[in-house]
Amino acid sequence: MNTMQVEKLIFQLSRDGRSGNYVPEERDLSFIPEKMKRERPLNLPSVPENQVVRHFVRLSNLNYGVDTGMYPLGSCTMKYNPKINEKIARDPAFLNLHPYQDESTIQGALKIMYQLGEDLKLLSGMDGITLQPAAGAHGELTGILISRAYHTAQGNPRKKILVPDSSHGTNPATAAMCGYRVVTLPSNERGTIDTKSLKENMDDEVAALMITNPNTLGIFENEIEEVASIVHEKGGLLYYDGANMNAIMGYVRPGDMGFDMVHFNLHKTFSTPHGTGGPGAGPVAVKERLKPFLPYPTVGKNEERYFFDYSHRETSIGKMRAFHGNFLILLRALLYIRSNGFSGLKRVSKHAVLNASYLKKKISHLFEDPYRAATMHEFVLSASNLKKQYGIRTIDIAKRILDFGLHAPTIYFPLIVKEALMIEPTESETVENLDDFASVMEKIAEEAKKNPSILHDAPHNTPVGRPDETTANRKPILKAFSLPERRPDKQEG
Ligand SMILES: *Cc1c(COP(=O)(O)O)cnc(C)c1O
Repeated sequence: MNTMQVEKLIFQLSRDGRSGNYVPEERDLSFIPEKMKRERPLNLPSVPENQVVRHFVRLSNLNYGVDTGMYPLGSCTMKYNPKINEKIARDPAFLNLHPYQDESTIQGALKIMYQLGEDLKLLSGMDGITLQPAAGAHGELTGILISRAYHTAQGNPRKKILVPDSSHGTNPATAAMCGYRVVTLPSNERGTIDTKSLKENMDDEVAALMITNPNTLGIFENEIEEVASIVHEKGGLLYYDGANMNAIMGYVRPGDMGFDMVHFNLHKTFSTPHGTGGPGAGPVAVKERLKPFLPYPTVGKNEERYFFDYSHRETSIGKMRAFHGNFLILLRALLYIRSNGFSGLKRVSKHAVLNASYLKKKISHLFEDPYRAATMHEFVLSASNLKKQYGIRTIDIAKRILDFGLHAPTIYFPLIVKEALMIEPTESETVENLDDFASVMEKIAEEAKKNPSILHDAPHNTPVGRPDETTANRKPILKAFSLPERRPDKQEG
């Protein structure tokens, strides 16, 4: 049983006659036209101001985020979001821009978009870019639609997309959404693409191979040049899922590895907030021959003027988003890039890899290490040993971590590792935080041996324990009791 008190709804804190505002009762409201007045009071909770503030502060304290503590969610790259970027993005000069403004009045905003595009092209070794897509998965959709347009222009849209069995679920989902058949390639013993199987499956009906590098196991695909030439020999395209770009900045570039297009998850590599479905951005950069198919408009520059470029409208896949994407997110990403500089970004990647390697060294003896290859920015361990010995599953470990006031890592992904724990500390964490996480994992491994029931029943210190996650997502219960049926007000009548 959870001991923690669940925060009541604000309606349950309501008592008749209490109020949070100070409008004098005798105030003359005759200036409000009769027909606009309500027939009866709005159904609002009657709560004094201090109770309202405390209620919302308590709720905010129930939340866990990168500003609360370490958030080692593998693949998601929950790095710290610098506050200066938030402050600048809230400047009214940016906030109050309107997408219908004349180009001559938004030269600064266009310059920001242009420069971000140039920086991302340089970092990835690509030639053209769209900033429109709203997330990584949306970038994938954009990329595969570009791939389809390219192949169609060559005379055959082709039928298949290849993905490795370690791939992120959005890769096959994207391929299926674009009408392609998904062919899954097995990984080899090292955890990387099996080139023999790639050769067998690669034919001239394959539109593209979608991969991340380093892959979702945190392992660098060291045969990437051979992979690229196998795909290109049959006229296919190589798609770079840029979710793991934070591991390689300044060291290698997707364009130089042979990739034809890449999406960037700005909320991962470039520290923009993860918006839980809110505004995000997943720009897509492409090689020269794919530029005609980019969504329109792109941002162009001639002499000293920036402009929206519609010149490829006839060949473009169309628009992927209203207007120009989430400008304020793009701005934050440029701020992150420019405040680090390219040498700083290289250091970011170096420290991301160093932190992951350090943490893996400290905790891998507690679990099984399914692949022996060197770790990049994240690593995957398996709790199969604890399952076999003590009946403890990864979900039990993840739930128990919450009791220690930390966020759990990603679990049960990638799918090819049984009882997977996927850990990504990011470069943001200090060595003390890494040591702290390691000591929590040690304690939990010890508990598995000595007191497994504490793990089976975890978490003990959170307001919610183990909801059925699918049901909680599909049918969330957002209120604990029913509000009185709201009859339509007069003016809505
Ligand atoms: C996060 C992630 C995606 C999807 O990106 P979103 O921005 O969440 O839509 C795709 N592939 C990999 C490997 C990822 O980690």
